[in-house]
This record gives sequence, structure tokens and C-alpha cells, in this order.
Amino acid sequence: MGKIITNKGEGSAHKNKKTKDLKYFDKEEWIVVENCHEILKSQEEHNEILNKIKVRTKFHPAARRGAFIFSGILYCAKCSKSMQMQDKGIKEALIKPCRKADHVGNKCDNKGNKLSTVLEAVKYLLKDEAIRLKTEEETTGMNFVDYNKLIATTEDKIQKVNKAISRIKDMYEEGDYDKEEYLDRLNKRKSDINKLEAEIVDYQLLLRKQSDLTNDQKAKRFEDVFSILDSTSVETETKNSLLKEIIEKVIYIKNNNGDVPQVEVLFK
Ligand SMILES: [Zn+2]
Repeated sequence: MGKIITNKGEGSAHKNKKTKDLKYFDKEEWIVVENCHEILKSQEEHNEILNKIKVRTKFHPAARRGAFIFSGILYCAKCSKSMQMQDKGIKEALIKPCRKADHVGNKCDNKGNKLSTVLEAVKYLLKDEAIRLKTEEETTGMNFVDYNKLIATTEDKIQKVNKAISRIKDMYEEGDYDKEEYLDRLNKRKSDINKLEAEIVDYQLLLRKQSDLTNDQKAKRFEDVFSILDSTSVETETKNSLLKEIIEKVIYIKNNNGDVPQVEVLFK
């Protein structure tokens, strides 16, 4: 960690490429920047903490009392809608049976349950995922490509081509080219811009796919969340916002009263 590796080589990642291939593994073409990554990360973490404090202060104290773990991320496996929770003045929070109606008015019949059962299931799955990440072969970190930098470089190239287009127009107006040559040169430049724009789209897709955390760091995040879930000193909203950073959805189903509910977790 603590390194940003950037490819300075020219070329295109676009499928219909006619230019040189990007060489991700050619060492001479990499610029290695030491220690930036860690600095960026801790700044990000710092901002995250600030954001959390802001979110917390937005909650009215009364709303805080009624908060449930998994609020907003617990979904019904039968109808895909969000599940609601209730307190009912008893000591244990409950998942309400799902009665959401579909577009023709048929009501969902997913059964309710103690919320703590889902918490235990999620804790188990978090631990399991942390173990899986630790044993999985490391793919990030080593092959880290700074796509933001590649996008910026490509945008610069587009700027240059646009300047070239203005020059071509000037020269045509000054009579340096005939119309045929002018259109020829113009179209060539326009096709260069199309290729560069396609490259940016590719880089944006690759950027979204690439996580800048190593598997060990990801596993650590899962373990950190796991460790605070039972804590009574951490607010439910804080627990939920930490859960939302790593979990997309918790999906719940209980077909019949007396059945053990089934819980599936979709990790981000
Ligand atoms: Zn439902």
C-alpha cells in the first residue's frame, strides 16, 4: 500500500482500437508515486467521519429512539419492497409481516420475526465474507491503475484536437486548403475525438469496477462493522450508516410461522 501506479503509456483501451494496446504490465511505462495513496485514504476517512457527525446531528432525539438496525436496507424476498420494523413496547424489536400489495392488489404474505435473528444471520455472513476476502487471491493494489489520471490525460488530448480543428478552420478561411482537403482534415480530427471520447467511457467503466482497497483492507472493514454491531455505546444510526457502506441489501424471507427465516446479504 501507499503507492499509486499510473500508466503513462499511450494507447487505447477501446475495443475497436486501431491504436497501440495499453501495456498494463510493462514496468518501464509505469510511474510509481510513493505514499500518496495512504494520504488520500486518511483524508477520505476524515471526511467520512465529518459526514457521519453531520448526519447524526440531523436526527431528532425522538426519531433516534425509534430507529432500528437494518432500517432502509432490509428487503422482502417475496415482493422486493422494504420491510418495516416495530417496537410494540416489548423488549425485542420485530420485523412486521409484509402486507405490501402488488399492482393488482394481491398482498404479500412474508411473515414477521424477531429482528435479532436477522442480526445474527448478518453477523455470521459478515464474518464469512471477511474470511473469504482474506483467502481470495489479491487482485487489487498490485495492478492499481489510476483511471482518473488516464481520463484527465485523454481530456487534454481532446482539447488539443479541438485546437487543431480551429487551426484547420483558420487555414481554410485563409485559403491554404481547398474544400475537399479541409473536409478531409476536419473529419480525420473529428474521428480522433470520437475515439478519445470512447476511451474515456471505457476508463469510467473500469474506474467504477476497480476498488482501491486490498482484500485485507476490505476484510478489515467487514470485521470493524461486525465488532460494533453488538455495542450498546454505538447509536443505531451509526451502525446503519456503517452497514450501508458495505451492504447493498439484506433480503429476508419467512414462508410460514414457525419456520426459520432465511437471510441473504448483497454486499457492495
Ligand atoms: Zn413482501
